[in-house]
Amino acid sequence: MTESTHESIAAHSKPRNPYAGVYPGNLFMVVAPSGAGKSTLVNALLARDPAIRLSISYTTRKPRPGEQDGQHYHFTTVDDFLARHARGELLESAEVHGNYYATSRLWIEEQMKNGHDVLLEIDWQGAQQVKKQFRNAVEIFILPPSLSALEERLKKRGQDEPHVITRRILAAGGEIAHSPEFEYVIINQEFAVALSELTAIVQAARCRFPQQAARNAYLFTQLGIHAS
Ligand code: 5GP
Repeated sequence: MTESTHESIAAHSKPRNPYAGVYPGNLFMVVAPSGAGKSTLVNALLARDPAIRLSISYTTRKPRPGEQDGQHYHFTTVDDFLARHARGELLESAEVHGNYYATSRLWIEEQMKNGHDVLLEIDWQGAQQVKKQFRNAVEIFILPPSLSALEERLKKRGQDEPHVITRRILAAGGEIAHSPEFEYVIINQEFAVALSELTAIVQAARCRFPQQAARNAYLFTQLGIHAS
C-alpha cells in the first residue's frame, strides 16, 4: 500500500464531527391552510417567547387593510421579486393563491449564525425547499378542527374579497394533503391547548443534541463532550 493510499484512508476514517456546520439558532416552519388560525397562534407564541424572530417574507400580493410594509410583509412588484430570485437572494419561493411569496436567504442565515431562533410562516412548497437546505428545520403543520370551522374563520376575517375567500377554501384541501410530510401536527380546536403544544414543540426542539452542542460549544468542550 502506498503512502498516499494510507493518507487517503486516514482522511476518510478520521471521525467527522456530524455537528460541524449546524447553526446555533433553530429554524421553525409553521404551515397551515388559510383560516386554520396560524397567524394568531404564531403571534401568541412570539409574544410569549420573544427570543424567536419572525421572518418577514417578500410577496407580490397587495397589502390588506392594516398591513404595513416591512412589518407584515415586504410588499413588492413581480419584476423586483424575479430579480431577487435571479440574484439567488431567496431561500425558497412559491406561487400561492396567484401571488408570489419568498423568504430572504441572507436574513435567515445571519440570524441563525448568530444563535437566534427563526420562525417562517410559509406554505408546504416553501417548507419542502427549506428542509432540503436545513435538514434540522422543524416542520409544524396546523390543522383546523373541521372544514366548516376553516370556512367560518375565512369569512369572519372579512379582509378578502368573496372570490379570494372561495379560492382559499378550494386550495385548503391541497395544502392539507401535504400534512403527512410534517413532523408535527397541531389541531387548532382549543386555542390554549394548541398554543401550549406549539410552545412544547419549540422547547423540545431547542434541546436536541446538535442544537445544544452548537449553542453551547464552550460548555460542551469544557465538559469533554465530543460528537460520537
Ligand atoms: P397570505 O396571503 O394569507 O398572507 O398568505 C398566503 C399563503 O402564503 C399562506 O399559506 C402563507 O403561509 C404563505 N406564505 C407567506 N409567506 C410565504 C413565504 O415566504 N414563502 C412561502 N412559500 N409561502 C409563504
